[in-house]
Amino acid sequence: MKILILNCGSSSIKYQLIDTDSDPSALARGSVERIGMKGAILNHNRIDGDKVKIAGEIVDHQAAIEYILAILLSKNHGVLKERDEIDAVGHRVVHGGEQFTGSVLIDAEVMDGLQDCVDLAPLHNPHNIRGIVACQRLLREIPMVGVFDTAFHHQIPDYAYIYGLPYLLYKRYGIRRYGFHGTSHFFVSQQAALRMDKKVDDLKMVTIHLGNGCSMAAVDRGTSVDTTMGFTPLEGLLMGTRSGDIDAGAVMHVMGREELSLGEVNTLLNKHSGLIGISGESSDMRDIVEEMEKGNDRARLAFDVFTYRVRKYLGSYAAIMGGLDAVVFTGGIGENSPQVRAASLKGLEFIGVDLDKDRNFAKASGEREVSADSSRVKVFVIPTNEELVIALETKRIVEAL
Ligand code: ADP
Repeated sequence: MKILILNCGSSSIKYQLIDTDSDPSALARGSVERIGMKGAILNHNRIDGDKVKIAGEIVDHQAAIEYILAILLSKNHGVLKERDEIDAVGHRVVHGGEQFTGSVLIDAEVMDGLQDCVDLAPLHNPHNIRGIVACQRLLREIPMVGVFDTAFHHQIPDYAYIYGLPYLLYKRYGIRRYGFHGTSHFFVSQQAALRMDKKVDDLKMVTIHLGNGCSMAAVDRGTSVDTTMGFTPLEGLLMGTRSGDIDAGAVMHVMGREELSLGEVNTLLNKHSGLIGISGESSDMRDIVEEMEKGNDRARLAFDVFTYRVRKYLGSYAAIMGGLDAVVFTGGIGENSPQVRAASLKGLEFIGVDLDKDRNFAKASGEREVSADSSRVKVFVIPTNEELVIALETKRIVEAL
């Protein structure tokens, strides 16, 4: 089954075309950037290495999807002969609220439900909806499936998701912790179980997704029982430009002192905090490590805050699950930064986590084990593949029609 996977953001769309019946690596993948702005560009990569960049006037999401379809069908760079070779479209949807606890076939009722979730994720869901509507116009007969970032966390117990606020706010506005990156946490936990040749139902794991956004999940016998992101993707770990955990009292204090509006404080916490905020240098972990190694103290502090939080949550997740069998690193930083992995797991031998220095620092890519043979808790690096999960979910739902 050939499935087009779309991940629609505010000014960008990432896409992959996956044939689930053959090699699960994408036949083609790419992105459209700067939608609605000057200098919009499509980057397209075919599985055989063919690459092309196309600049154009791409005014909105529909125009972007038209470009994507055109390149997928193009004689020189395409992978399809006919549009109807696409059997289904899988959409990444950021927020499913309490309503969507698993992937769904998109119909009129689901569209209403997605609209209801806009209030919960005003920065993300409207763009996902825009992409779906554009596809409905362009690919009328083709079934579409929504796969939610929040769904894997839907079984988190109430005592982990309720904030210490008046309960009325939960009932009235759905203010609670939801968690994100669910597709990634699901994928890497399943892969880790496969590598261990064990059933996921027999394992207690902590999955650590460190990219531009960062989150961790406590995965107890295949179910996410807690995660670091909350009502929005702002809570929890320190991130490239997001603060992660912070005392709401500190935010109110700064708002008062600096006379910040709601919009300004939103930008402060989401765009000017985290690694860039503390270091004043960069939101990119490569730059932070480089600066730290040159002796830059603020970069060292940003690195220490970042890795300390990972360590702190790891300990607390081992405690809430009453044990730990595996730790999995993924995401751009988790997969590529041995320094971050080493510092995050430092001193955790007492709970059975023993990183192998050579394996951790070896120049390698792809799935690998980085714990010592003697380590009771296995530590893995597993590149995430959210698109593959979306493709398999889409196939499962479409085949059941
Ligand atoms: P996203 O969350 O947008 O999908 P990625 O998972 O691709 O992002 O992660 C992007 C981040 O990965 C970059 O900001 C960079 O800090 C980090 N990164 C990529 N390669 C390395 C590396 N070799 N060492 C350290 N960090 C890296």
